[in-house]
Amino acid sequence: MIQPAPTRRWDLLRLPLVRRFVRWRYSRFVLQLPLFLLALLALFDGFTGRQLAPKNLATVSVWLHYRGLVVLAIALLGNVFCAACPLMLTRGASRALKRWLPEWRWPRRLRNKYGVLGLTLLYLFAYEYWDLWASPWLTAWLILGYFGAALVVNAIFPSGTFCKYVCPLGNFNFALATASPTQITARDPARCLTCEGKYCVNGRGAAYPGCETRLFVPQIQSNTDCTLCLNCVRACPYDNVALEVRSPVREWVTARYRPDWALFGALLLFAGVMNAFAMVPPYYALAEALARALGTTHEGVLLGVIFAAWVGIAGLLSVGLSLLSSWLAGIHERPLQAVRRWGAGYLPMAFAVWGAHYAYHFLTGWASIVPVTQQALGRLGLYPGRPDWALAAQVPEALLFPTAALAIYAGLAASSYVLVRRSLALGRGYAALPVLALLVYLAALTLWVLAQPMEMRGTLLAPSPSGGI
Ligand code: SF4
Ligand code: SF4
Repeated sequence: MIQPAPTRRWDLLRLPLVRRFVRWRYSRFVLQLPLFLLALLALFDGFTGRQLAPKNLATVSVWLHYRGLVVLAIALLGNVFCAACPLMLTRGASRALKRWLPEWRWPRRLRNKYGVLGLTLLYLFAYEYWDLWASPWLTAWLILGYFGAALVVNAIFPSGTFCKYVCPLGNFNFALATASPTQITARDPARCLTCEGKYCVNGRGAAYPGCETRLFVPQIQSNTDCTLCLNCVRACPYDNVALEVRSPVREWVTARYRPDWALFGALLLFAGVMNAFAMVPPYYALAEALARALGTTHEGVLLGVIFAAWVGIAGLLSVGLSLLSSWLAGIHERPLQAVRRWGAGYLPMAFAVWGAHYAYHFLTGWASIVPVTQQALGRLGLYPGRPDWALAAQVPEALLFPTAALAIYAGLAASSYVLVRRSLALGRGYAALPVLALLVYLAALTLWVLAQPMEMRGTLLAPSPSGGI
């Protein structure tokens, strides 16, 4: 369905410098190059540097800065980290490999987010089981694995397959970008009706590729699957693509997500709470009690049981309470339809929980990127000075909990607004109460978790006495 013509909008691509930059052929490369060089330096430091997480560029850049800045960028501007993703620089090599390899179609059965949901769970399990945040060496392998997976998947399958159906981080960004204050739209939807080539999605020859995740601009109603690559802007010969500034809650109120997306959003919310919970003393008490009950101290078994129980509870509560809300609204529908109806309500809280958690870590170690980069460059002979490790301990402790609490309250308020709007649209304002009660409980649980003494993963809390490495 083509969107109706909007009455008013503010288009970021109308800003003179932005417009010229975005339409420039190498604009994306300019954004990707710094992150690619940083990734190379992180690989070097991760594999060959000192294996101390707060003093290694691999762990600091990935677990403190990448995660914190992704959430900040999405909240302020949009999914710019996908636009600047250095993994996309493997596309040249993928294209070269395609000459020798047969191109397969991504299986129809896997053209949804259930595969990504499974991969995200695996990733979160691996993160806890192998303490990835604590190991520069494993973090470097993770970076290398990511580059290799992007190269192979995009060589065998059509471009965009990795971003859309495989990458847990990209899909995490897509889900959180539903909160972004920007969205790709058609400036004049009427123009699209007579557009002969639908170039924004199909491209215009090799020089102007279209949308690799197969989004058709006049039909876009959500930031999901949009990598903000702006291929569509360059491909459209009618200059008809806008990067519209919008209300961050608009999408949650208007979009009707597919069930796989809604379940992915719910999983992210529960996983966010679990991820924070795994860093506080009550988690260790729970693991000890479980170890006594099961008669094993094998960490993989204990973690697996806790994970499975939490995912089971998340699935049952998400589906069961959505069904109850639909029933209160007088609608009898299948479980996945109910999740689809109410699922948008999970996304604001998911954003808030991850945002609060990542902000917590980022604020505690934001300046540590300076000395770890100095140190890695120094080992390559590219930085003659001495790293200033005092920077690594800039912990504005008084700000940590209030910032996190503010994010949780804002997320809960946005979720409540979305759910109430949806239930009012059905003529029963109280229908959303079951789902809302769950979100209030999860918000309270998250605040309680964040108020516990927390492991400061990957953060240097005080300069080493020597001040050196
Ligand atoms: S290429 Fe431009 S005019 Fe054609 S459908 Fe896409 S946005 Fe509309
Ligand atoms: S080409 Fe597709 S993914 Fe890229 S900005 Fe346009 S709509 Fe988003």
